[in-house]
Amino acid sequence: MAVALLVATVTRVLVDPWLGDVAPHGFYMIATLYLAWSRGLWPALINVLLGAALANYLFVPPRYTFYDEGIEHHINAALSFFLGVSASLLIESLRSVASENARLCRLAQEAAIRREEFIAMASHELRNPLGPLRNALTVLEDPGTTLAQNTEAQEIIERQLRHLTRLVDDLLDISRLTRGVIELRKEQVELRTLVEAAVEIAQPLVHGRQHVLNVSLSDKPVYLYADPTRLIQTLANLLNNAAKYTNPRGRIWLHAVAEDDQVVIRVRDTGIGLDGEALTRIFEPFEQVDTSAHATHGGLGIGLALVRRLVQLHGGQVSASSPGRGQGSEFLVRLPRLTKVLQPPVPRKEAAPRAIASAAPQRILVVDDDRANARTMAMLLALRKHEVEVCQDGASALQLAGKFQPDVVLTDLGMPGMSGLELARQLRALPGMQHALLIAVTGYGQPSDRSESQAAGFDWHLVKPVDTAQLDRILQGTAERPMDYGP
Ligand code: ADP
Repeated sequence: MAVALLVATVTRVLVDPWLGDVAPHGFYMIATLYLAWSRGLWPALINVLLGAALANYLFVPPRYTFYDEGIEHHINAALSFFLGVSASLLIESLRSVASENARLCRLAQEAAIRREEFIAMASHELRNPLGPLRNALTVLEDPGTTLAQNTEAQEIIERQLRHLTRLVDDLLDISRLTRGVIELRKEQVELRTLVEAAVEIAQPLVHGRQHVLNVSLSDKPVYLYADPTRLIQTLANLLNNAAKYTNPRGRIWLHAVAEDDQVVIRVRDTGIGLDGEALTRIFEPFEQVDTSAHATHGGLGIGLALVRRLVQLHGGQVSASSPGRGQGSEFLVRLPRLTKVLQPPVPRKEAAPRAIASAAPQRILVVDDDRANARTMAMLLALRKHEVEVCQDGASALQLAGKFQPDVVLTDLGMPGMSGLELARQLRALPGMQHALLIAVTGYGQPSDRSESQAAGFDWHLVKPVDTAQLDRILQGTAERPMDYGP
């Protein structure tokens, strides 16, 4: 600031022979504008004051005194002061807009880089299971394959499909969470049930990597008011991570107890551990500690972001700790406990009354605009001795249904032209179709999607890829109907 004042003063002195008493404040004004842009508001305001004093002393007649004569000099001084302050304020606001723009631009660039990185990583992870799938198929096609090889190839296909499905589910979940459209279906659940289900999900990985898993739970029943599916997913994620990020033959502990009005769950492992910097970012979406290709563990960096959001949605918190790299990690989940039991524990529901009396061959109409999906579903049903017809859109389905009179219609929901929901409504209005079993098959499985399909007249809502065992049970009439999804 001192330099700006000095430059303004020297320049004014140099041009003084030409300007004389004219524009005594002009050069200080320029200095103010420069300072406001380059140094900010305060240096500019101080410059306004000092500049006014200097101009008054050096260039306003009578010179070398702070007393000036004449009303026009007072007006000049006041105008310069007012202009200086206004210009400083204006430039300050321009500066903050410019810096906000620069920040947004940087954020957008970073987001673009992260998106590119994510797409590269997601393609890599989604592509990984395709190799074994292709190989296993080739094995199955070979006429010389032994029974043992055949079985192994089928198991590989099953495992890889499960893995792919989990990746896609995680992607859908994170997008729903980002958009804030995830819905919880809360009910009274016992902690033990959640832990057992999560352990069952993580068991293949824990077992595959030969870890020893210790589970300890309080003896007394502990209840939560929570969405069991989402909490099982949360715990299974933590257990799967513990199994993934621990070298084979490690140890994993899951300890879950009630503490006052909270449920405290600890998942600890003897794995690769985390350092301080990693601990702060692993709960962010798409964050992975080691992203080098050799370090891949078959994840998308979404699991912990999901864990954190789901725990938060339940009114809880999750944190991670580790003594450091190579020294294991611990994940601590705190959730509100249900201190007043709402209802006595419910014994597992009996199978729902049969929608269709027996597993006898049925007439099934499969509707799906995805030809491969429709064909494979038809093959699968034909293998079970059902009589199957296939079509690709709602209008043909309505026509065919009139002639074929199916006992069951299995239809996709998102189809061009008539949607599956509309098809269900129109099917129900056809003669002889009121009692047919209508099954929706779709990629969307939120409670709102289910209630929409229920309202359209569907009996069942299955999420792709369809669990064939569940479909068999539905067709045999022995499937358990979800509590809130009545006939
Ligand atoms: P993903 O496992 O798909 O990479 P997550 O969100 O589940 O994504 O985890 C994010 C990162 O946190 C992982 O990439 C890993 O580096 C680290 N991490 C998660 N769990 C553990 C653990 N138990 N031990 C060490 N590191 C872990």
